[in-house]
Amino acid sequence: MTDQCKFFVPGPTWVRPAILQELSRPMIGHRSAEFKELFHGINADLKTLFATKQDTFIVTSSGTGVMQAALENCVARRVLVTTCGAFSERWLTIAESLGLECDRFDAGWGNAVNPDALADHLASRRGNYDAVTLTHNETSTGVTNDIAILASAVREESPDSLVLVDAVSALAGIPMAFDQWNLDVCLASVQKGIALPPGITVVAASAAAMERARKHPYRGTYFDFLEYKKQAESDSVPATPSIPHFYALAKQLTHIIREETLPARFERHRLLRDMTIERTAKYTRLASDPAHASMTVTALEPVASDAETIRYAMKERGFTIGAGYGQWKERTFRIGHMGDIPLKSLEQMLDVLDKVAGG
Ligand code: PLP
Repeated sequence: MTDQCKFFVPGPTWVRPAILQELSRPMIGHRSAEFKELFHGINADLKTLFATKQDTFIVTSSGTGVMQAALENCVARRVLVTTCGAFSERWLTIAESLGLECDRFDAGWGNAVNPDALADHLASRRGNYDAVTLTHNETSTGVTNDIAILASAVREESPDSLVLVDAVSALAGIPMAFDQWNLDVCLASVQKGIALPPGITVVAASAAAMERARKHPYRGTYFDFLEYKKQAESDSVPATPSIPHFYALAKQLTHIIREETLPARFERHRLLRDMTIERTAKYTRLASDPAHASMTVTALEPVASDAETIRYAMKERGFTIGAGYGQWKERTFRIGHMGDIPLKSLEQMLDVLDKVAGG
């Protein structure tokens, strides 16, 4: 196995060989003292990663499951869903499937959600929403929303609404400040910025979110936030978790927080983004608003060639890049530059892309 990455899909992302090895460690019981010790270390590190002193926990599910859980625990009646691409629209699909009353506040594909316009919308419907959903990083378009300002608009104009944030393709790649930004639920599956194989999701939840959950008698069993909180208080989980992921997460959080460190990790992601955009500018257009260009994924529209042709040509040369997504499937290809991808690996891939797409 090599530490060189040739895989640039915007999730699941490339996983370091040292992390893959953690997945093959012998089993321990999830009610054992060893597991409690493992959990304890992970949960302390999660508080650093989310920048919170409030509740954090780990759910054995992909991110979509916990998006549904956030709505099931926190919304009784009506939710405002902010949308700007396929994954922010997923909140809407889930909310509708749960029979919730939904309003949509749409910024349009490729744009970030505008905080002033959101504030105006909320001001005209004061007190009407149990929660507002935000998407930190829209993976289909490569746009990062300014969660600090959006959350403060919600607080200002609709103080009783909870703020539910999907940080799936942001956490550990783009700064997060859960307490300072006054968020209520923030979730991220681990196959993106945290750079683990897919299978579990990390969550932070505020006291207000827990209070809201307490008022809902029918939260279901598997995704009951109160049960996760109760179990986490004794370093445990409600049901049998994916134990191999816990080993890998413990090792990876040590790497992220104490070896690479968060400031250095964010700076590397900034460099990965800047290098991607600069080096492809001759033969592509950035598909989304450059002022909100994501540090973890870039969606590019080829000027002269076809996105799928480029992708296949890269595949033939041993490099995997991401396809366009949803309504941008034909028009764009995406470069995932998140997680543990070394700058050198991106540089090597861009050298090849230059030849394939740059002519
Ligand atoms: N939200 C965003 C921003 C995503 O990028 C994805 C997956 O790509 C999801 C949600 C869904 O997460 P999962 O595939 O872990 O269910």
